[in-house]
Amino acid sequence: MNNSGCEKDKKAGKIKYLLFAAGFSILIFTAICLWNKKADIKSNPASMMGTMVKKHLRHGTSEKQVPLKDVPEDFQAGDYEPNSKNDKHAVPDGTKTAYLSFDDGPSANNTPRILDILDNYKIKATFFLIGQHAQANKDLVEREWSSGDMVYNHTYDHNVDFIYKDPKNLVEDLNECDTILKSLLPGYDKKVCRFPGGSKNRPAVFKAAVAKAGYRYVDWNCLTRDAEVPNLSIDQQLGYIKQFSKNKKDLIVLMHDDSGETTTPDALPRIIDYLKSCGYAFKTIN
Ligand SMILES: [Zn+2]
Repeated sequence: MNNSGCEKDKKAGKIKYLLFAAGFSILIFTAICLWNKKADIKSNPASMMGTMVKKHLRHGTSEKQVPLKDVPEDFQAGDYEPNSKNDKHAVPDGTKTAYLSFDDGPSANNTPRILDILDNYKIKATFFLIGQHAQANKDLVEREWSSGDMVYNHTYDHNVDFIYKDPKNLVEDLNECDTILKSLLPGYDKKVCRFPGGSKNRPAVFKAAVAKAGYRYVDWNCLTRDAEVPNLSIDQQLGYIKQFSKNKKDLIVLMHDDSGETTTPDALPRIIDYLKSCGYAFKTIN
């Protein structure tokens, strides 16, 4: 009787122990999962909205959403830095610099509005042009260049299905855009580009091919998300600027001046005012 009671106690003890061990394991597992998730979001705040889909069409083909995981938290090693004299993380004199950049233009409706605003503020920006759009808006390319803004290469067609099929296609498309820029701007010799959708997470062969062809490339570390959601309000764009500029001394701000991003010029004065109030000076990417 005593023995069987003892056995029962032992059994009950064993079960209790197993239940405790299982519960503890689940607790530890959950804690690890939560920790990883938190670390992921911290290292890449954009990952929180990774499933958003770009809705508008570009060049007749639906442009794949710039995967939000492609948004770099900061400049990537080996990427072109905006100012080689400055340490991107610790500028010795404490200067804060914002490099406003506009991709996918020029467009007849948005680019002149943006250029007018930049003129009003006496600020220069950097434009990454699509060759096809440059061809269709030659006067705007000339205006950008002659007003002291920087003009760089964003491929001829921005057709991500084509250019990311083969590194040769990407280089071919960059060269095509380069030829157009040279034909429009006498003496143009810049070899700087931005990968459509950014360079981060592109296979190394694409980056190697672009470098071998003589191009440096630059991404961004701050953005308004104007190309991801159509007609983002001024407050939404400003909200993203506040979010992504936090604790950064150098900002490369990604915006767009393609014809579809009509609320970008609406938000630009507020964005400039905000960055000025934070102490940023504005420069072109050189
Ligand atoms: Zn683009």
